Amino acid sequence: MDYEVEISSSHCLECGDEIAYGKRSDSKFCSDRCKNRYHNRAVSAMRHFREKSDRALEKNHRILEELLEEGVNTMDLSLLLSQGFQAEYVTSVIRGRSSLTMSCYDIQYRMTGQKIFGIRRLRGFGEKRTNNYICKK
Ligand SMILES: [Zn+2]
Repeated sequence: MDYEVEISSSHCLECGDEIAYGKRSDSKFCSDRCKNRYHNRAVSAMRHFREKSDRALEKNHRILEELLEEGVNTMDLSLLLSQGFQAEYVTSVIRGRSSLTMSCYDIQYRMTGQKIFGIRRLRGFGEKRTNNYICKK
């Protein structure tokens, strides 16, 4: 959905029809039906986006958990990507001088353009929030 497009205020944002004379001058929709359709689509798009993000994070977590279980500490990024790992989905990022420290829920790892390394499980995750989990610039 594109919110950038500027449509004249006299046309309905949903169907594009001209808004009938007599409606409030700041009316964006020609009818309640159009207003509801527009908002339902926005809600649906947001739900879809969240579900997609949740699925990607869950898959990343599964992959990282397998590496931890196998005692693997360093992994080629291209190999991970070929397994369906999506590096752009993280729950936190801390920018370091030569690498990024990323978290996927309770698993933390460092990443360069070529590899991830230092994979470890954060202790105390889910307990009272401590400074360990606050993203520092
Ligand atoms: Zn309309």
